[in-house]
Amino acid sequence: MTDTAKKMETDSAVYKTLLESTKAIPWKIDWKSMTFAYIGPQIEALLGWTPESWVSAQDWAERMHPEDREWVVNFCVSQSKAGTDHEADYRAITKDGNYVWIRDVVHVVRDQAGEVEALIGFMFDISERKKTEAKLVDLQKELEALSFKDGLTGVANRRMFDSILEAEWTNARLNHQPLSIIMLDIDYFKQYNDHYGHIQGDDCLRRVAKTLSSATRSRDFFARFGGEEFMLVLPETDEQDAINIAERCRTLICKERIPHEKSEVIPMVTVSLGVGTIIPSEKDDSIKFIEEVDKRLYRAKQRGRNCIANDH
Ligand code: GH3
Ligand code: MG
Ligand code: MG
Repeated sequence: MTDTAKKMETDSAVYKTLLESTKAIPWKIDWKSMTFAYIGPQIEALLGWTPESWVSAQDWAERMHPEDREWVVNFCVSQSKAGTDHEADYRAITKDGNYVWIRDVVHVVRDQAGEVEALIGFMFDISERKKTEAKLVDLQKELEALSFKDGLTGVANRRMFDSILEAEWTNARLNHQPLSIIMLDIDYFKQYNDHYGHIQGDDCLRRVAKTLSSATRSRDFFARFGGEEFMLVLPETDEQDAINIAERCRTLICKERIPHEKSEVIPMVTVSLGVGTIIPSEKDDSIKFIEEVDKRLYRAKQRGRNCIANDH
């Protein structure tokens, strides 16, 4: 053997050792016969299939999740035919029937005439990365859900209220149905905080929110509007029914008997409520309607609190 031949043999032994000791799994497919010329022995540790069992490109396609197979095979074949290097992520089937996420990175080798001669590539195990991605998607969903929730009380927040009101408003307008709103505000809550402290103030808000949540019927919607103000949106509810529900809310809070020594009404937490009902028409505006209900709430406050106002 010549020195050059010897050197080449040593070199390829070195390359082979290097390739077979990395985590990336090298492979080569002969383009004309569509058969594996080589696949790294690491494949067996990852998928359970021996290197000898990878004979044709068909074996590769069959050892792929049925949902991924069609697009991956079509994509890889068309890219290879065009002579374009490419990569694809897919779930490979293991010998014992599980799935492993793989990234296949493919380089197209051409002969001197420019014809595709072979494909060589690396398979990477990307299951950890996919797990992290799935976790991120879950977190994103959770965040979306949380962004519609009030952090303190766990009920819907102002943002959600705006969306629901808009939807119910349109619905009531199109179906010519009455829509009622109750705006509710805790009486002398500043004094409550000043006397009992903010932590207990927060507890009180949570308790009021929980109590009022239980007053809703199936299609009613309850939200914290801000601070110590809450809103009820009552679809297909006329004025009398809305007043009855407001009265139920007022009574429920009284029945909770949350001590409030500094209240000028009674020594317990009470609420004041504004009620409004509308069959919205084209010319009506939901913001104006809310402002009107807010005025009524203010009237209830002026009349001594712990009461309901529904007059214009
Ligand atoms: P009124 O009977 O007229 O409604 O008087 P009020 O004291 O309830 O009304 P005011 O608007 O003067 O005070 C509201 C208080 O609510 C002031 C603020 O410190 C308190 N508050 C608003 N948000 C929170 C909160 O998230 N936690 C606590 N603990 N207090 C809050
Ligand atoms: Mg208040
Ligand atoms: Mg207020």
